[in-house]
Amino acid sequence: METGYPRLPTDTENGLLLIISGPSGVGKTTITRGVERSIGDSVFSVSYTTRAKTEADIEGVDYHFISDDEFDELVENDLFLEWADVFGKKYGTRRKWVAEQLARGRLVILEIDVLGAQQVKNRMPEAFGLFILPPSEEELLNRLRNRKRESEELIQKRFAEAKREIAFAKESDVYDTFVINEDIERAIAEAIEKVEAARVG
Ligand code: 5GP
Repeated sequence: METGYPRLPTDTENGLLLIISGPSGVGKTTITRGVERSIGDSVFSVSYTTRAKTEADIEGVDYHFISDDEFDELVENDLFLEWADVFGKKYGTRRKWVAEQLARGRLVILEIDVLGAQQVKNRMPEAFGLFILPPSEEELLNRLRNRKRESEELIQKRFAEAKREIAFAKESDVYDTFVINEDIERAIAEAIEKVEAARVG
């Protein structure tokens, strides 16, 4: 593969782009971090976002927090592999970093929404798309309420959005596989198994 990046002793030909999506409250971040921890040469793509940093967020680890102007400049210079507006804030993945990591043979993990996932699949059909589902819609609503983070109005908004995302994920060709998160440890194990199988090809 001619990539234009200098090779390192640890480089392999085993690169895979993994997209993980799922509605809010489904346990997506826990599953993503579980996959990242268990697969030795995996790297998590730290997205750029215009949303406000919360106390739980670490700059450069969870996201790169940037202004609207900075984001628009990255869009204008075509530096994103994909980007989307999610709940009124922008989120994007830098193309160059992903290409470099894939050239090194890494498993590159993108935790992104369905619209971003569709853009990635269009540009890189070899990417592997994994969508996390709740055991049922009712259970998802329970989980959103149990987080006790938001007002009932916002919870209902997220729930409606979640149902739209699930319908889209099932109807589109974007996702290669689905994992139901009934039990978090089992969901992580299943996700790892599916990713490893996709990597072998
Ligand atoms: P949160 O703000 O709760 O961390 O993320 C909100 C949503 O944005 C989640 O669905 C998450 O997967 C999605 N997201 C995070 N980073 C990106 C990105 O780089 N691109 C896209 N398209 N979505 C992202």
